[in-house]
Amino acid sequence: MTIDVIVIGGGTSGMMAAVSAAESGANVLIIDKNKMLGKKLRLTGGGRCNVTNNRPPEDIISFIPGNGKFLYSTFSQFNNYNIMEFFEGQGVHLKEEDHGRMFPVANSSKAIVNGLAQRLNELGVELKMKTTVKTILTDNGQVTGVKTDTSEVIQAPCVILATGGKTFQYTGSTGDGYKLAKKLGHSVTPLFATESPLLSQDTFIQSKELQGLSLRDIGLSVLDDKDKVVVTHEMDALFTHFGISGPAALRCSMFVNQQLDKGARDVSMSLDLFPNKEEDKLKQEILNIQQTESSKSIKNALRKLIPERYLEFLLNRVKIDNQLPFKQVTETQIEQLTHELKDMRFTVYKTYPIDKSFVTGGGISLKEINPKSMESKLVSGLFFVGELLDINGYTGGYNITAAFCTGFVAGKHAAEISSYFKY
Ligand SMILES: Cc1cc2nc3c(=O)[nH]c(=O)nc-3n(C[C@H](O)[C@H](O)[C@H](O)COP(=O)(O)OP(=O)(O)OC[C@H]3O[C@@H](n4cnc5c(N)ncnc54)[C@H](O)[C@@H]3O)c2cc1C
Repeated sequence: MTIDVIVIGGGTSGMMAAVSAAESGANVLIIDKNKMLGKKLRLTGGGRCNVTNNRPPEDIISFIPGNGKFLYSTFSQFNNYNIMEFFEGQGVHLKEEDHGRMFPVANSSKAIVNGLAQRLNELGVELKMKTTVKTILTDNGQVTGVKTDTSEVIQAPCVILATGGKTFQYTGSTGDGYKLAKKLGHSVTPLFATESPLLSQDTFIQSKELQGLSLRDIGLSVLDDKDKVVVTHEMDALFTHFGISGPAALRCSMFVNQQLDKGARDVSMSLDLFPNKEEDKLKQEILNIQQTESSKSIKNALRKLIPERYLEFLLNRVKIDNQLPFKQVTETQIEQLTHELKDMRFTVYKTYPIDKSFVTGGGISLKEINPKSMESKLVSGLFFVGELLDINGYTGGYNITAAFCTGFVAGKHAAEISSYFKY
Protein backbone atom coordinates (compact mmCIF):
# COMPACT_ATOMS: atom_id res chain seq x y z
CA MET A 1 0.00 0.00 0.00
CA THR A 2 1.32 3.48 -0.79
CA ILE A 3 1.21 5.92 2.08
CA ASP A 4 -0.27 9.36 1.45
CA VAL A 5 0.36 10.92 4.85
CA ILE A 6 2.95 9.98 7.48
CA VAL A 7 2.28 11.31 10.96
CA ILE A 8 5.42 11.45 13.11
CA GLY A 9 4.22 11.08 16.72
CA GLY A 10 1.19 9.14 17.95
CA GLY A 11 0.43 11.57 20.76
CA THR A 12 -2.47 13.98 21.22
CA SER A 13 -2.12 16.00 18.02
CA GLY A 14 -0.76 13.12 15.92
CA MET A 15 -3.68 10.80 16.61
CA MET A 16 -6.23 13.50 15.71
CA ALA A 17 -4.22 14.44 12.59
CA ALA A 18 -4.27 10.80 11.48
CA VAL A 19 -8.03 10.49 12.13
CA SER A 20 -8.70 13.61 10.09
CA ALA A 21 -6.41 12.67 7.18
CA ALA A 22 -7.93 9.17 7.01
CA GLU A 23 -11.48 10.57 7.22
CA SER A 24 -10.57 12.72 4.21
CA GLY A 25 -9.61 9.60 2.27
CA ALA A 26 -5.82 9.37 2.76
CA ASN A 27 -3.84 6.22 3.52
CA VAL A 28 -2.17 7.16 6.78
CA LEU A 29 0.75 5.80 8.78
CA ILE A 30 1.57 6.88 12.35
CA ILE A 31 5.15 6.36 13.50
CA ASP A 32 5.89 6.65 17.23
CA LYS A 33 8.92 5.73 19.30
CA ASN A 34 6.74 4.38 22.14
CA LYS A 35 5.07 1.01 22.20
CA MET A 36 1.70 2.60 23.02
CA LEU A 37 -0.26 5.50 21.57
CA GLY A 38 -0.89 8.69 23.57
CA LYS A 39 1.63 8.09 26.36
CA LYS A 40 1.51 11.71 27.54
CA LEU A 41 -2.24 12.01 26.99
CA ARG A 42 -2.69 9.19 29.52
CA LEU A 43 -1.00 11.33 32.21
CA THR A 44 -3.05 14.44 31.62
CA GLY A 45 -5.48 16.03 34.06
CA GLY A 46 -4.08 13.89 36.88
CA GLY A 47 -4.96 10.75 34.89
CA ARG A 48 -8.47 12.05 34.11
CA CYS A 49 -7.62 14.16 31.00
CA ASN A 50 -9.01 17.66 30.91
CA VAL A 51 -9.76 17.13 27.24
CA THR A 52 -11.07 20.60 26.31
CA ASN A 53 -13.03 23.57 27.66
CA ASN A 54 -16.66 24.50 27.20
CA ARG A 55 -16.23 28.20 26.38
CA PRO A 56 -17.12 29.82 23.06
CA PRO A 57 -14.19 29.16 20.67
CA GLU A 58 -13.36 32.89 20.38
CA ASP A 59 -12.92 33.00 24.20
CA ILE A 60 -10.60 29.98 24.12
CA ILE A 61 -8.04 32.13 22.28
CA SER A 62 -7.63 34.42 25.32
CA PHE A 63 -6.67 31.40 27.44
CA ILE A 64 -3.81 30.64 25.07
CA PRO A 65 -1.39 33.47 26.00
CA GLY A 66 1.36 32.05 23.76
CA ASN A 67 0.18 33.13 20.28
CA GLY A 68 -3.45 32.02 20.65
CA LYS A 69 -4.45 34.42 17.87
CA PHE A 70 -2.70 32.22 15.34
CA LEU A 71 -5.52 29.72 15.95
CA TYR A 72 -8.45 31.85 14.64
CA SER A 73 -8.31 30.10 11.30
CA THR A 74 -7.80 26.67 12.89
CA PHE A 75 -10.83 27.13 15.18
CA SER A 76 -13.00 28.25 12.26
CA GLN A 77 -12.40 24.77 10.80
CA PHE A 78 -12.31 22.62 13.95
CA ASN A 79 -12.77 23.82 17.53
CA ASN A 80 -13.51 22.73 21.09
CA TYR A 81 -17.16 21.96 20.26
CA ASN A 82 -16.01 19.66 17.44
CA ILE A 83 -13.71 17.90 19.92
CA MET A 84 -16.71 17.26 22.18
CA GLU A 85 -18.80 16.00 19.21
CA PHE A 86 -15.96 13.73 18.15
CA PHE A 87 -15.71 12.01 21.52
CA GLU A 88 -19.47 11.80 22.04
CA GLY A 89 -19.61 10.22 18.55
CA GLN A 90 -17.10 7.62 19.70
CA GLY A 91 -19.27 6.86 22.74
CA VAL A 92 -16.88 8.68 25.10
CA HIS A 93 -19.22 10.85 27.15
CA LEU A 94 -17.89 14.08 28.60
CA LYS A 95 -18.87 16.20 31.60
CA GLU A 96 -18.19 19.80 32.56
CA GLU A 97 -16.45 20.77 35.81
CA ASP A 98 -15.42 24.17 37.22
CA HIS A 99 -14.10 26.89 34.88
CA GLY A 100 -15.64 25.09 31.87
CA ARG A 101 -13.18 22.20 32.08
CA MET A 102 -14.34 19.08 30.24
CA PHE A 103 -13.44 15.55 31.37
CA PRO A 104 -14.56 12.08 30.32
CA VAL A 105 -17.47 10.85 32.47
CA ALA A 106 -15.38 7.72 33.06
CA ASN A 107 -12.86 9.95 34.92
CA SER A 108 -10.03 8.26 33.08
CA SER A 109 -7.76 9.52 30.32
CA LYS A 110 -7.73 5.95 28.97
CA ALA A 111 -11.28 6.59 27.72
CA ILE A 112 -9.96 9.45 25.57
CA VAL A 113 -6.99 7.47 24.23
CA ASN A 114 -9.26 4.47 23.54
CA GLY A 115 -11.79 6.68 21.71
CA LEU A 116 -9.05 7.89 19.38
CA ALA A 117 -7.45 4.45 18.99
CA GLN A 118 -10.83 2.94 18.11
CA ARG A 119 -11.40 5.55 15.39
CA LEU A 120 -7.89 5.01 13.99
CA ASN A 121 -8.66 1.31 13.81
CA GLU A 122 -12.03 1.86 12.11
CA LEU A 123 -10.30 4.02 9.50
CA GLY A 124 -7.52 1.50 8.86
CA VAL A 125 -4.69 3.83 9.94
CA GLU A 126 -1.42 1.88 10.05
CA LEU A 127 0.78 2.06 13.13
CA LYS A 128 4.51 1.66 13.33
CA MET A 129 5.40 1.74 17.01
CA LYS A 130 8.80 1.54 18.76
CA THR A 131 10.24 3.39 15.77
CA THR A 132 11.99 6.76 15.81
CA VAL A 133 12.05 9.03 12.78
CA LYS A 134 15.57 10.31 12.23
CA THR A 135 15.19 12.35 9.03
CA ILE A 136 12.45 13.92 6.95
CA LEU A 137 13.35 13.38 3.29
CA THR A 138 12.81 16.13 0.72
CA ASP A 139 13.51 16.72 -2.92
CA ASN A 140 13.49 20.23 -4.38
CA GLY A 141 11.55 21.68 -1.45
CA GLN A 142 8.94 18.88 -1.52
CA VAL A 143 8.57 16.19 1.16
CA THR A 144 9.22 12.67 -0.16
CA GLY A 145 9.14 10.59 3.03
CA VAL A 146 11.04 9.76 6.20
CA LYS A 147 13.98 7.65 7.33
CA THR A 148 13.74 5.76 10.61
CA ASP A 149 16.26 4.60 13.21
CA THR A 150 16.53 1.24 11.38
CA SER A 151 17.44 3.17 8.20
CA GLU A 152 14.14 2.18 6.64
CA VAL A 153 12.89 4.71 4.10
CA ILE A 154 9.13 5.20 3.93
CA GLN A 155 7.85 7.33 1.09
CA ALA A 156 4.92 9.75 1.23
CA PRO A 157 4.16 13.17 -0.29
CA CYS A 158 2.99 14.59 3.05
CA VAL A 159 4.47 14.41 6.55
CA ILE A 160 2.82 15.80 9.67
CA LEU A 161 5.29 16.56 12.43
CA ALA A 162 3.51 15.90 15.75
CA THR A 163 6.44 15.20 18.03
CA GLY A 164 5.31 17.39 20.96
CA GLY A 165 7.34 19.69 23.20
CA LYS A 166 10.04 18.87 25.77
CA THR A 167 8.15 18.27 29.01
CA PHE A 168 7.93 14.90 30.78
CA GLN A 169 10.47 13.55 28.31
CA TYR A 170 10.05 9.93 29.39
CA THR A 171 6.75 10.04 27.46
CA GLY A 172 8.75 10.29 24.22
CA SER A 173 8.46 14.08 23.75
CA THR A 174 12.19 14.73 23.75
CA GLY A 175 12.22 17.65 21.37
CA ASP A 176 13.16 15.69 18.21
CA GLY A 177 10.74 17.75 16.13
CA TYR A 178 12.69 20.97 16.69
CA LYS A 179 15.85 19.34 15.27
CA LEU A 180 14.01 17.71 12.34
CA ALA A 181 12.45 21.06 11.44
CA LYS A 182 15.71 23.01 11.82
CA LYS A 183 17.41 20.64 9.37
CA LEU A 184 14.80 21.70 6.82
CA GLY A 185 15.47 25.40 7.37
CA HIS A 186 12.78 26.19 9.96
CA SER A 187 13.48 28.44 12.93
CA VAL A 188 12.63 27.65 16.53
CA THR A 189 11.86 30.47 18.98
CA PRO A 190 13.50 30.12 22.44
CA LEU A 191 11.90 27.35 24.51
CA PHE A 192 10.80 28.03 28.09
CA ALA A 193 8.97 26.27 30.89
CA THR A 194 5.33 27.22 31.34
CA GLU A 195 2.39 26.01 33.45
CA SER A 196 5.02 25.40 36.09
CA PRO A 197 5.17 25.88 39.88
CA LEU A 198 7.12 28.91 41.18
CA LEU A 199 10.13 28.60 43.49
CA SER A 200 10.90 31.10 46.26
CA GLN A 201 13.81 31.67 48.62
CA ASP A 202 11.78 33.92 50.94
CA THR A 203 12.14 33.10 54.63
CA PHE A 204 8.50 32.10 55.12
CA ILE A 205 8.79 29.57 52.29
CA GLN A 206 12.13 28.21 53.52
CA SER A 207 10.69 27.84 57.04
CA LYS A 208 7.75 25.94 55.46
CA GLU A 209 5.26 27.78 57.70
CA LEU A 210 2.60 27.88 54.98
CA GLN A 211 3.44 24.51 53.38
CA GLY A 212 0.25 22.69 52.38
CA LEU A 213 -2.02 25.73 52.75
CA SER A 214 -4.38 26.10 49.82
CA LEU A 215 -6.24 29.35 49.20
CA ARG A 216 -9.38 29.55 47.06
CA ASP A 217 -10.07 32.12 44.36
CA ILE A 218 -7.25 34.44 45.29
CA GLY A 219 -5.71 37.04 42.97
CA LEU A 220 -2.06 36.31 42.17
CA SER A 221 -0.09 38.95 40.28
CA VAL A 222 3.33 39.08 38.66
CA LEU A 223 5.01 42.51 38.96
CA ASP A 224 7.72 43.99 36.79
CA ASP A 225 10.88 45.77 38.02
CA LYS A 226 8.88 49.03 38.30
CA ASP A 227 6.28 47.32 40.50
CA LYS A 228 3.70 47.43 37.72
CA VAL A 229 1.30 44.51 37.48
CA VAL A 230 2.15 42.38 34.42
CA VAL A 231 -0.67 39.88 34.85
CA THR A 232 -3.19 38.80 37.52
CA HIS A 233 -4.92 35.43 37.75
CA GLU A 234 -7.89 34.76 39.99
CA MET A 235 -7.85 31.08 40.83
CA ASP A 236 -6.76 28.72 43.60
CA ALA A 237 -3.16 28.55 44.86
CA LEU A 238 -1.21 26.22 47.10
CA PHE A 239 1.87 26.96 49.20
CA THR A 240 4.43 24.14 49.01
CA HIS A 241 7.81 23.37 50.58
CA PHE A 242 9.55 25.13 47.65
CA GLY A 243 7.20 27.99 46.80
CA ILE A 244 3.74 28.29 45.32
CA SER A 245 1.76 26.05 43.00
CA GLY A 246 -1.88 25.52 42.00
CA PRO A 247 -3.72 26.92 38.96
CA ALA A 248 -3.06 30.63 39.69
CA ALA A 249 0.70 30.05 40.09
CA LEU A 250 0.90 27.84 36.98
CA ARG A 251 -0.78 30.53 34.91
CA CYS A 252 1.67 33.14 36.21
CA SER A 253 4.73 31.02 35.36
CA MET A 254 5.09 32.12 31.74
CA PHE A 255 5.15 35.77 32.85
CA VAL A 256 7.66 35.03 35.62
CA ASN A 257 9.97 33.47 33.03
CA GLN A 258 9.55 36.53 30.81
CA GLN A 259 10.65 38.80 33.69
CA LEU A 260 13.60 36.52 34.49
CA ASP A 261 14.59 36.60 30.81
CA LYS A 262 14.76 40.39 31.02
CA GLY A 263 17.49 39.96 33.62
CA ALA A 264 15.55 40.07 36.91
CA ARG A 265 17.13 37.92 39.64
CA ASP A 266 13.89 37.77 41.62
CA VAL A 267 10.38 38.47 40.48
CA SER A 268 7.94 40.21 42.83
CA MET A 269 4.53 38.61 43.30
CA SER A 270 1.46 39.95 45.04
CA LEU A 271 -1.25 37.81 46.61
CA ASP A 272 -4.70 39.32 47.10
CA LEU A 273 -6.88 37.15 49.36
CA PHE A 274 -10.01 39.13 48.45
CA PRO A 275 -9.69 40.08 44.79
CA ASN A 276 -13.35 41.09 44.60
CA LYS A 277 -13.32 43.43 47.60
CA GLU A 278 -11.93 46.95 47.60
CA GLU A 279 -9.37 47.61 50.34
CA ASP A 280 -11.62 50.25 51.99
CA LYS A 281 -14.60 47.91 52.11
CA LEU A 282 -12.50 45.12 53.57
CA LYS A 283 -11.12 47.45 56.24
CA GLN A 284 -14.68 48.51 57.13
CA GLU A 285 -15.75 44.86 57.35
CA ILE A 286 -12.90 44.15 59.77
CA LEU A 287 -13.75 47.26 61.81
CA ASN A 288 -17.37 46.05 62.03
CA ILE A 289 -16.19 42.66 63.32
CA GLN A 290 -14.07 44.53 65.87
CA GLN A 291 -17.20 46.32 67.09
CA THR A 292 -19.22 43.13 67.54
CA GLU A 293 -16.44 40.82 68.75
CA SER A 294 -14.29 43.26 70.69
CA SER A 295 -13.63 40.99 73.66
CA LYS A 296 -12.33 38.08 71.56
CA SER A 297 -8.69 37.82 70.50
CA ILE A 298 -8.09 39.22 67.01
CA LYS A 299 -7.26 35.73 65.77
CA ASN A 300 -10.49 34.19 67.07
CA ALA A 301 -12.59 37.06 65.82
CA LEU A 302 -11.20 37.00 62.28
CA ARG A 303 -10.85 33.30 61.59
CA LYS A 304 -14.31 33.12 60.02
CA LEU A 305 -13.15 35.63 57.45
CA ILE A 306 -9.57 34.48 56.86
CA PRO A 307 -8.09 30.94 56.78
CA GLU A 308 -6.52 30.51 60.21
CA ARG A 309 -2.94 29.66 59.18
CA TYR A 310 -2.82 32.53 56.74
CA LEU A 311 -4.26 34.89 59.36
CA GLU A 312 -1.59 33.87 61.91
CA PHE A 313 1.08 34.36 59.25
CA LEU A 314 -0.15 37.86 58.34
CA LEU A 315 -0.62 38.94 61.97
CA ASN A 316 2.96 37.91 62.57
CA ARG A 317 4.06 39.83 59.47
CA VAL A 318 2.43 43.07 60.66
CA LYS A 319 3.62 42.39 64.22
CA ILE A 320 0.23 42.04 65.90
CA ASP A 321 0.07 39.49 68.71
CA ASN A 322 -2.60 37.04 67.57
CA GLN A 323 -3.92 36.65 71.13
CA LEU A 324 -4.38 40.41 71.56
CA PRO A 325 -8.00 41.30 72.50
CA PHE A 326 -9.51 42.81 69.37
CA LYS A 327 -10.56 45.97 71.21
CA GLN A 328 -6.88 46.78 71.83
CA VAL A 329 -5.97 46.64 68.13
CA THR A 330 -5.55 50.14 66.69
CA GLU A 331 -7.07 51.37 63.45
CA THR A 332 -3.57 51.76 61.99
CA GLN A 333 -2.83 48.11 62.76
CA ILE A 334 -6.10 47.11 61.08
CA GLU A 335 -5.09 49.17 58.05
CA GLN A 336 -1.74 47.36 57.92
CA LEU A 337 -3.45 43.97 58.16
CA THR A 338 -5.99 44.91 55.48
CA HIS A 339 -3.19 46.02 53.22
CA GLU A 340 -1.38 42.68 53.64
CA LEU A 341 -4.63 40.83 52.93
CA LYS A 342 -4.92 42.71 49.63
CA ASP A 343 -1.26 42.83 48.68
CA MET A 344 0.97 40.22 50.33
CA ARG A 345 4.33 40.60 48.60
CA PHE A 346 6.85 37.82 48.09
CA THR A 347 9.48 36.95 45.53
CA VAL A 348 10.11 33.95 43.29
CA TYR A 349 13.38 33.24 41.52
CA LYS A 350 12.61 30.48 39.04
CA THR A 351 10.07 27.95 37.81
CA TYR A 352 10.59 24.22 37.52
CA PRO A 353 12.73 23.28 34.50
CA ILE A 354 10.96 22.47 31.21
CA ASP A 355 11.05 18.70 31.71
CA LYS A 356 9.07 18.98 34.96
CA SER A 357 6.64 21.64 33.72
CA PHE A 358 3.31 20.89 32.10
CA VAL A 359 3.83 22.79 28.86
CA THR A 360 6.69 23.99 26.63
CA GLY A 361 6.58 27.65 25.62
CA GLY A 362 8.22 28.68 22.34
CA GLY A 363 8.63 26.37 19.37
CA ILE A 364 8.49 26.31 15.57
CA SER A 365 8.20 29.90 14.38
CA LEU A 366 4.63 30.61 13.27
CA LYS A 367 5.84 33.04 10.61
CA GLU A 368 6.92 30.01 8.61
CA ILE A 369 3.56 28.22 8.82
CA ASN A 370 0.33 28.81 6.90
CA PRO A 371 -2.36 29.28 9.60
CA LYS A 372 -5.13 27.96 7.33
CA SER A 373 -3.53 24.58 6.71
CA MET A 374 -0.61 24.28 9.18
CA GLU A 375 1.63 23.60 6.17
CA SER A 376 5.21 24.83 6.12
CA LYS A 377 5.82 27.89 3.96
CA LEU A 378 9.33 26.55 3.30
CA VAL A 379 8.80 22.87 2.45
CA SER A 380 5.74 21.63 0.51
CA GLY A 381 3.94 18.68 2.10
CA LEU A 382 5.36 19.33 5.60
CA PHE A 383 2.87 20.17 8.38
CA PHE A 384 3.37 21.16 12.04
CA VAL A 385 0.91 20.52 14.88
CA GLY A 386 0.57 20.44 18.67
CA GLU A 387 2.96 21.60 21.35
CA LEU A 388 5.85 21.67 18.89
CA LEU A 389 4.44 24.96 17.61
CA ASP A 390 5.26 28.31 19.24
CA ILE A 391 1.85 28.18 20.97
CA ASN A 392 1.12 27.60 24.66
CA GLY A 393 -2.10 27.71 26.63
CA TYR A 394 -3.06 27.84 30.29
CA THR A 395 -4.08 24.71 32.16
CA GLY A 396 -7.82 24.12 31.78
CA GLY A 397 -7.88 21.95 28.65
CA TYR A 398 -6.45 24.61 26.33
CA ASN A 399 -3.26 22.78 25.32
CA ILE A 400 -5.02 19.57 24.35
CA THR A 401 -7.57 21.72 22.50
CA ALA A 402 -4.78 23.42 20.51
CA ALA A 403 -3.17 20.03 19.82
CA PHE A 404 -6.39 18.35 18.63
CA CYS A 405 -7.50 21.32 16.52
CA THR A 406 -4.17 21.95 14.79
CA GLY A 407 -3.92 18.17 14.28
CA PHE A 408 -7.35 17.95 12.68
CA VAL A 409 -6.76 20.89 10.34
CA ALA A 410 -3.32 19.65 9.23
CA GLY A 411 -4.69 16.14 8.65
CA LYS A 412 -7.48 17.43 6.43
CA HIS A 413 -5.19 19.60 4.31
CA ALA A 414 -2.44 16.97 4.10
CA ALA A 415 -5.01 14.46 2.78
CA GLU A 416 -6.14 16.95 0.17
CA ILE A 417 -2.60 17.76 -0.98
CA SER A 418 -1.56 14.10 -1.03
CA SER A 419 -4.54 13.32 -3.28
CA TYR A 420 -2.96 15.46 -6.04
CA PHE A 421 -0.06 13.01 -6.11
CA LYS A 422 -2.35 10.13 -7.08
CA TYR A 423 -2.93 11.38 -10.57
C1 LIG B 1 1.52 15.80 33.37
C2 LIG B 1 0.83 16.59 32.31
C3 LIG B 1 -0.54 16.83 32.42
C4 LIG B 1 -1.20 17.59 31.44
N1 LIG B 1 -2.56 17.77 31.56
C5 LIG B 1 -3.20 18.45 30.59
C6 LIG B 1 -4.62 18.55 30.62
O1 LIG B 1 -5.30 17.96 31.46
N2 LIG B 1 -5.22 19.31 29.64
C7 LIG B 1 -4.50 19.92 28.64
O2 LIG B 1 -5.11 20.60 27.79
N3 LIG B 1 -3.17 19.78 28.55
C8 LIG B 1 -2.50 19.03 29.48
N4 LIG B 1 -1.16 18.86 29.37
C9 LIG B 1 -0.47 19.34 28.14
C10 LIG B 1 -0.78 18.37 26.97
O3 LIG B 1 -0.64 17.05 27.41
C11 LIG B 1 0.15 18.59 25.77
O4 LIG B 1 0.15 19.95 25.40
C12 LIG B 1 -0.29 17.74 24.57
O5 LIG B 1 -0.42 16.38 24.91
C13 LIG B 1 0.72 17.91 23.44
O6 LIG B 1 0.35 17.05 22.39
P1 LIG B 1 1.37 16.76 21.21
O7 LIG B 1 0.67 15.86 20.26
O8 LIG B 1 1.93 18.01 20.69
O9 LIG B 1 2.58 15.98 21.88
P2 LIG B 1 2.64 14.52 22.69
O10 LIG B 1 1.27 14.19 23.12
O11 LIG B 1 3.70 14.78 23.64
O12 LIG B 1 3.05 13.53 21.55
C14 LIG B 1 4.30 13.55 20.90
C15 LIG B 1 4.59 12.12 20.43
O13 LIG B 1 5.65 12.15 19.49
C16 LIG B 1 6.46 11.01 19.68
N5 LIG B 1 7.78 11.31 19.11
C17 LIG B 1 8.62 12.31 19.44
N6 LIG B 1 9.70 12.30 18.64
C18 LIG B 1 9.55 11.26 17.80
C19 LIG B 1 10.34 10.72 16.75
N7 LIG B 1 11.52 11.26 16.38
N8 LIG B 1 9.90 9.63 16.09
C20 LIG B 1 8.72 9.04 16.42
N9 LIG B 1 7.93 9.52 17.40
C21 LIG B 1 8.34 10.60 18.09
C22 LIG B 1 6.47 10.82 21.18
O14 LIG B 1 6.81 9.49 21.52
C23 LIG B 1 5.05 11.20 21.56
O15 LIG B 1 4.21 10.08 21.62
C24 LIG B 1 -0.47 18.12 30.34
C25 LIG B 1 0.90 17.88 30.24
C26 LIG B 1 1.55 17.12 31.20
C27 LIG B 1 3.02 16.87 31.07
